[in-house]
Amino acid sequence: MALDQELKNQLAQYLDLLEGEVVLKVSGGSDKASEEMLELINEIASMSSQIKVEHTSLSRTPSFSVNRVGEETGITFAGTPLGHEFTSLVLALLQVSGRPPKVEESVINQIKSIRGEYKFETYISLSCHNCPDVVQALNLMSLLNPGISHTMIDGAVFKEEVESKDIMSVPSVFLNGEFFESGRMNVEEILAKIGSAPDASEFDNKEPFDVLVVGAGPAGASAAIYAARKGIRTGIVAERLGGQVNDTMGIENFISVKYTEGPKLVASIEEQIKEYPIDVMKLQRAKRLEKKDLIEVELENGAVLKSKTVILSTGARWRNIGVPGEAEFKNKGVAYCPHCDGPLFTGKDVAVVGGGNSGIEAAIDLAGIVKHVTVLEFAPELKADAVLQDRLYSLPNVTVLKNVQTKEITGTDKVDGVTYIERDTGEEKHVELQGVFVQIGLVPNTEWLEGTLERTRMGEIIVDSRGATTIPGVFAAGDCTNSPFKQIIISMGSGATASLGAFDYLIRN
Ligand SMILES: Cc1cc2nc3c(=O)[nH]c(=O)nc-3n(C[C@H](O)[C@H](O)[C@H](O)COP(=O)(O)OP(=O)(O)OC[C@H]3O[C@@H](n4cnc5c(N)ncnc54)[C@H](O)[C@@H]3O)c2cc1C
Repeated sequence: MALDQELKNQLAQYLDLLEGEVVLKVSGGSDKASEEMLELINEIASMSSQIKVEHTSLSRTPSFSVNRVGEETGITFAGTPLGHEFTSLVLALLQVSGRPPKVEESVINQIKSIRGEYKFETYISLSCHNCPDVVQALNLMSLLNPGISHTMIDGAVFKEEVESKDIMSVPSVFLNGEFFESGRMNVEEILAKIGSAPDASEFDNKEPFDVLVVGAGPAGASAAIYAARKGIRTGIVAERLGGQVNDTMGIENFISVKYTEGPKLVASIEEQIKEYPIDVMKLQRAKRLEKKDLIEVELENGAVLKSKTVILSTGARWRNIGVPGEAEFKNKGVAYCPHCDGPLFTGKDVAVVGGGNSGIEAAIDLAGIVKHVTVLEFAPELKADAVLQDRLYSLPNVTVLKNVQTKEITGTDKVDGVTYIERDTGEEKHVELQGVFVQIGLVPNTEWLEGTLERTRMGEIIVDSRGATTIPGVFAAGDCTNSPFKQIIISMGSGATASLGAFDYLIRN
């Protein structure tokens, strides 16, 4: 049985919601992977009279496409979409059957208006929590526009393709046979990347805001909601709504919610933002801040937004090691997300650079999948919590190198090793391996503010207890500030503080 009883019960409830017939065109062989896929297809077909199965030959075996009667949608699954992709399958069945997708009308129209042929292929692993968002976004685009097709490809089943395309990170998306992008993306980000974003001119010539928030992670979202609740003109401009929370798997310390997942929390943040008259400007990066009569924020698209107060909440991103080979082999063996990319290194040798909590957690996680993990820590001791260190040292396939400086990530077209220097002897050494996971902390997204307001040596914006920066009227919150702790709940609290600080400033000025 492909599905356990619990999954079967869930599926039965969803299949009751089918609004029309769905035709599964199936290409199966007699290999084990085909058998597994056929078992799933047969189970699904036996559970709903709305599902019809036709056997055919598709370009990949095992695979199946999800269609309407007499209408190809272009949605194909190559492999068996279980694991994290099970939701993608359920959504495809429902949407193909006629259930409307939960996407804004403007996005639907944008997808429908795209002209040209777009053949997307997404390589995934079933354990990747970032992959379903991309698969579901591209499936939706495929369903809504006859010029767009999308195939989800399980890298574990199509290993030869993965090897020949040198795929070392999932999701990896290819468009018309060429590499397109890797990592989590939502439908709006994909649309922007294929040049179908809303016209940038609509951001120009806007009336000045009372509060303009830059960045829409937990800090920015909280700041915007607090401002809007005061009834003042509020705008929020951000590259990626939700910020780092998009990349977070399980969240267990968001008080009052025992457990949630990043994308789920982002969805409810967005829902709450929509409850207020907040001008949300997504997929836009700020590049300049200047205080004149009003405060001006220039976007990378050239538009200039004006506001009486500004709250900076641009968060942080993974820190790079900055050694030769790191940028060159990104997604070719250099990775940042062990949960996502770990399975691609099954049976291989990898390194984790960084001996803090995230590095040691990654090493423990990877040790269960890969052949061997080498941990490289610059300091003479690991900085991770003792309990994590104990667990790490109990593992048979881990080597810990302390007091070493990573010098270079080597390779030709993909990673083949790491060169490091033993700091006490100065001796240079090299380890042969196929993957390097970089886990050396975060860097604040504040480079664009250089020369404007006071920042720490690390680039964090210095704020007072009201979130005020050294420029009157400019406030900051969250991971981009000198707050000693970087957490969701702390960012939200500081966003609220900065917002109330800005409101207080507006009243007094
Ligand atoms: C893998 C991972 C797991 C984590 N797990 C947890 C956890 O379990 N619990 C917890 O409490 N915390 C966790 N954290 C930390 C938490 O996610 C952060 O502390 C929090 O997201 C910080 O919120 P923020 O709003 O300050 O910044 P971010 O979340 O970084 O958001 C920054 C925002 O600014 C935007 N932005 C950046 N630069 C610009 C620019 N120039 N112009 C316009 N917009 C810009 C971004 O697109 C984004 O919208 C985790 C972090 C990571 C990476």
